[in-house]
Amino acid sequence: MFLSDFHTHPVFGDGNNTCREMIEAAAARGLAAYGISEHSHMDYCGDGWVMIPAGEREYKKEMRALQSEFSDRIELFVGVEQDITSGSPTDEYDYVIGSAHVITVGGKMLHSAVDSSKERASAVINECFGGDALSYAEKYFETAAAVAKVTKCDIVGHFDLVNKYNEADHLFSTADPRYQKAATDAMDELLKTCRVFEVNTGAMFRLGRTERYPQNWLLRYLKERGADVILSSDAHQADAICYKFAETEELLRQIGFKRRLTLTQNGFKTIDL
Ligand SMILES: [Zn+2]
Ligand SMILES: [Zn+2]
Repeated sequence: MFLSDFHTHPVFGDGNNTCREMIEAAAARGLAAYGISEHSHMDYCGDGWVMIPAGEREYKKEMRALQSEFSDRIELFVGVEQDITSGSPTDEYDYVIGSAHVITVGGKMLHSAVDSSKERASAVINECFGGDALSYAEKYFETAAAVAKVTKCDIVGHFDLVNKYNEADHLFSTADPRYQKAATDAMDELLKTCRVFEVNTGAMFRLGRTERYPQNWLLRYLKERGADVILSSDAHQADAICYKFAETEELLRQIGFKRRLTLTQNGFKTIDL
């Protein structure tokens, strides 16, 4: 199978391996193309999981040097996962993954990401949404709907991240019409600006989740609207690169996708499924 992966994190943010270690691992796995997409700087960052401004400069410099050094072994791309609240410029990156990690309640940005912990998600639902978990999910999708316009991303990242700690619908029902309307309204809005969504296996590796971002019903929704997809691991360590990509490719075939995308120096290229 053609292997490439463009959503991965090194130690500049919250990853566990250096850029070099991640690239060595990708080359050893036989990836045809590989990208690192560290978290853009955010003025707020309670958890310290994003790059600081000096780190962004260092990251770009180091990655460009590695790009030359590894040019005969693997095609490397220097990317960024740009949060919707980040003010950092993206023009020096080869590609941009646009994501929403935090929500604003009553005009105040919550100082924790929706993917920080299960306990935190429950606390926010109780403290800020009076225990109404669906309102919390609706607020997330309201934010996520603007990701493509604000970040001008090439790829929409982990579309339904709010579902991370919701295995078996433990926090809220993803079958509830309110949830489904919020999600599909956000997807429709994003599709007006960006037609490429990642299929992200990060929570399968980290939490043993059974579904990807987006959930299977949302992948079907994307397929029906003629959107394109690209496989992403959201790896925060070298051994998570391309995690469950073969299974994911099979799932995409079952859903009816005829192709997926990969990146080249001249933009996206299609891979037949
Ligand atoms: Zn993210
Ligand atoms: Zn990520």
